[in-house]
Amino acid sequence: DSADFDKEVESICPFCGVGCQVSLKVKDGKVKYVDGINGPANEGRLCVKGRFGFDYIHHEHRLTKPLIRRDDAPAKGLNVDPGNWQTHFREAEWDEALDFAAKGLKDIGGTGVAGFGSAKCTNEEAYLFQKLIRQGFGHNNVDHCTRLCHASSVAALMENVGSGAVTATFNQIENADVAIAIGCNPIENHPVAATYFKQFTKRGGKLIVMDPRGQALKRFSSHMLQFRPGTDVSMLNAIMNVIVEEELYDQQYIEAYTENWEAEKEHLRDFTPEAMAEVCGIEAETLRDVARTFAGANAAMIFWGMGVSQHIHGTDNSRCLISLALMTGQVGRPGAGLHPLRGQNNVQGASDAGLIPMFLPDYQSVMNDGVRSAFTEVWGSEDFSNQKGLTVTEIMDAVHDGDIRGMYVLGENPAMSDPDVEHARDALAKLDHLVVQDIFITETANFADVILPASAFAEKSGTVTNTNRQVQMGRPAVPPPGEAKEDWWIEVELAKRLGLGWDYAGPADVFAEMKLNMNSLNNITWERLERENAVTYPSLSPEDPGQAIVFADGFPRPDGRARFTPASIIAPDDVPDQEYPMILTTGRQLEHWHTGSMTRRATVLDGLEPEANCSLHPLTLRKLGVAPGEHVRLTTKRGSIEIMAREDRAVSPDMVFLPFAYVEAAANILTNPAVDPYGKIPEFKFSAVRVEAA
Ligand code: SF4
Repeated sequence: DSADFDKEVESICPFCGVGCQVSLKVKDGKVKYVDGINGPANEGRLCVKGRFGFDYIHHEHRLTKPLIRRDDAPAKGLNVDPGNWQTHFREAEWDEALDFAAKGLKDIGGTGVAGFGSAKCTNEEAYLFQKLIRQGFGHNNVDHCTRLCHASSVAALMENVGSGAVTATFNQIENADVAIAIGCNPIENHPVAATYFKQFTKRGGKLIVMDPRGQALKRFSSHMLQFRPGTDVSMLNAIMNVIVEEELYDQQYIEAYTENWEAEKEHLRDFTPEAMAEVCGIEAETLRDVARTFAGANAAMIFWGMGVSQHIHGTDNSRCLISLALMTGQVGRPGAGLHPLRGQNNVQGASDAGLIPMFLPDYQSVMNDGVRSAFTEVWGSEDFSNQKGLTVTEIMDAVHDGDIRGMYVLGENPAMSDPDVEHARDALAKLDHLVVQDIFITETANFADVILPASAFAEKSGTVTNTNRQVQMGRPAVPPPGEAKEDWWIEVELAKRLGLGWDYAGPADVFAEMKLNMNSLNNITWERLERENAVTYPSLSPEDPGQAIVFADGFPRPDGRARFTPASIIAPDDVPDQEYPMILTTGRQLEHWHTGSMTRRATVLDGLEPEANCSLHPLTLRKLGVAPGEHVRLTTKRGSIEIMAREDRAVSPDMVFLPFAYVEAAANILTNPAVDPYGKIPEFKFSAVRVEAA
């Protein structure tokens, strides 16, 4: 009823990569409720987070003034009460805080400074952030949470199809007759996308679910392959072995559009279903049936999530999925394609905007002299380093080594999200100068020297890009609280104080600059997005809503050919033994978003899931003598936590599943920092763990 609100503003949900369009209903200067509207990804639908997870915007913990660490503050640590921070910080005016923030970074200078941007910021803010580090400090030590998310998927996609983005929107599943969902749990993590998956199965589509957890999508599956954790390559190679041995591959497609097929074919001969069944725990006949079902599809899609990417063999896992799609010709047609489901609402856009240490915007290599000079010409600045910068975990190591002494962290929370998080917290405590820009005193802000109060998504203008490559317009519904500011403004003011001479009137100016060196944004203008709300890239003309499917006629690689890259079995880094006999895997749950800073301050969501919990099989609980609801102690080589145990038949008896949103039982105290050699992504999905009654 329109009497319930004073105004309604169309914007984008701030949580997951589905990118649902929302209408924010505002009354008396506050967001009162949220409705779904007809965006290309959601067609009016919303999940519980999008619909009910908004009152964090008006939470009493919101930062309303810049804060500077007090001279007499206790030693840096995870020791700030966000409701009672006065013991650690004092309020400051913007000028003082910005001068202090910039001077500290400038005094350290050069490679002594690194930056973490955020996939929760807009494209314009991400672009400005990478520009600030590159132009201001002359190097590429700038990264964000893609490193913890799909960096290995992107590495494999760039290597083998020439582009890191999805080849088809998830909505294309409506044109498919078979789909694989592997290492993803869309009912909890991409809930609106999951509604399209369910509709697909209701129409008779065959959904092959592959996951070490017997998750909710199982109910809708034609095949449920609950394989042993960490054995993706053996299972996928066995499926491809059947396709090779039974000659079910698409020879015409392979000849027209691929390279290295003979090597792949030869490589796969060793991976017989019988031999691999022992490794992955799936019967040979099931592997054969899945191979025949997938290869027999008219149109098939492959979806994957962090169950695939967060392994030391994450890039190999993705290489297998790409090979499977290529050998069956399942790319570039309606209902066919490769789709890594992106996590954060703007992880696609932040990566596109160059918030990564090896690439400038549009994945243009920092090592290419021509590329760098195209950017420095637009920026009116000097050349910067032609060396790849350090990644998230490498930056923390460099802090411990004393090579990095200052950091600028915008909207990331490494004190919760990094693997072996005590290592990251120690690094943050060691920094000489830490500037944190956020909306709350996050765990990372606990360690800050200066905190700059920023804007929630419902308070800012800017574009974001979802998992479907849809660039969408976010609009402010309410003003930031107190003296908090939009993030782009804070970045510009800092840059001015670093002597960079920036001059932007607003995000539209930034977007216009981005377009100068980003072909992906051809035919997409700020005005168009204001008018249309969303345009998918690539867009071929000012009227084209964008291409839902790409690579119908070749790939952006040499000779237009995609590549088969064979993958071999690599064991997880931290293998169970007598001392740590079980397997720990971490992830999200429906009600909470990542490190919990927003959703744990959203009344409905926190009401639904108020307490840190882990999932154990009933047999495991019985063996431990622990009843559901009682506490267990989880211990790995990195550390130990105590947490409430839930009974869950979806996990196997040798596994424990642990969400990472809860600071009081932080999952990443336990996780292993070993990384994939290509994507540099940590192995969050596999650690050896001991479970005991607490
Ligand atoms: Fe928001 Fe994702 Fe839920 Fe859509 S599916 S409402 S984008 S959290």
